Amino acid sequence: MKKVYLDYATTSPCDPLVLKAMEPFFFDRPGNASSMHSFGQEAKKGVEDSRDSLASFIGARPEEIIFTSCGTESNNNVIFGVSSALTDKGNHIITSAIEHHAVSEPCGYLERKGYKVTYLKVDKDGLVSPEDVKKAVTDKTILISIMHANNEIGTVQPIKEIGKIARERGVYFHTDAVQTVGHIPVNVDDSNVDFLSLSAHKFYGPKGVGALYIRKGSRIDKFFYGGDQEKGRRASTYNTSGIVGLGKAIELCRKNMGNEIKVQSALRDKMIREIPHLIPEVKLNGHPTLRLPNNINFSVKYIEGESILLSLDMLGIAVSTGSACTSSSLETSHVLLGIGLDHATAHGSLRITIGRWTKESDVNYFLENLPKVVERLRAMSPLYDKK
Ligand code: PLP
Repeated sequence: MKKVYLDYATTSPCDPLVLKAMEPFFFDRPGNASSMHSFGQEAKKGVEDSRDSLASFIGARPEEIIFTSCGTESNNNVIFGVSSALTDKGNHIITSAIEHHAVSEPCGYLERKGYKVTYLKVDKDGLVSPEDVKKAVTDKTILISIMHANNEIGTVQPIKEIGKIARERGVYFHTDAVQTVGHIPVNVDDSNVDFLSLSAHKFYGPKGVGALYIRKGSRIDKFFYGGDQEKGRRASTYNTSGIVGLGKAIELCRKNMGNEIKVQSALRDKMIREIPHLIPEVKLNGHPTLRLPNNINFSVKYIEGESILLSLDMLGIAVSTGSACTSSSLETSHVLLGIGLDHATAHGSLRITIGRWTKESDVNYFLENLPKVVERLRAMSPLYDKK
């Protein structure tokens, strides 16, 4: 059976060149990057080269990067670390109603502990209004955390404008850039970002390694206590192979990103154009133009996204119905509710995300099969019957 992977935003395949760069660090160069001997120094070089690559890619300085285990850890570190360091300043956090759970859950925890959290509403395309951010800031605000692009609907936020407001008001600005690093340009100075989270498995690197950018001089408490790795800011033995893989993945993105944006945007636009012609009563979710080059999200009326996903899976096609973290529960996506969809329409959503190895023939195979699947499911749907 033909196998077509259209779920890159959940996790991307690891580029074989990344794997090749990582390989020596499992056996031939086994040292602990904190050790003084030559094995340790070889490992340390791998770590520091990766830090240099990442820093230059996002316009940061190497000493402003710490390596973490994932995007979730980076996000948690910022929210808990800033709130703990700034108890003297205030207890108010501003975020949006459509953040990934790796941001909204730590915010919810702090709320239960007495912090005040403003969850800004987004418009029908998923955009946060910088004006709303401006209005929400108080003299107790310690952090603004707005994601760079949404993982479900692909909408890219005006982080430059939001960063400018944060800077003017003297409030730290964090952006969860897990879906954007390696896919669209990201620059911490252009956007006045103080903290930025990223994760290697979203840009063709290995799973289980991420990074956090911390602007020099920012007040943030550490999240892991233990050894003095990362200058005492993040304890734990360096995940050398993972970090080397992240660095190699960044180098490949530096080389490929410009072309990939063009190729993927063209495939994305083909799907966005053709799906409404092939299937009646579908709705595009997310911004029509301010969206990730690799994201397509549609609601298909009268049927459930899960049923479409399972039927496509039987044809060898992998897509998703929401973020990976919510798709295993039947909870309605807070993102789709956040852009104003009703529960039924939100449940009928399908996210298609493409990447480095998606071919036009994969897209065609999907476009051939989706209408048949929808037609069959609608024929069985009591909602479709009643319309
Ligand atoms: N933030 C966003 C926007 C994401 O899409 C994800 C993963 O889907 C995460 C955070 C969590 O990243 P990780 O899987 O590396 O913990």
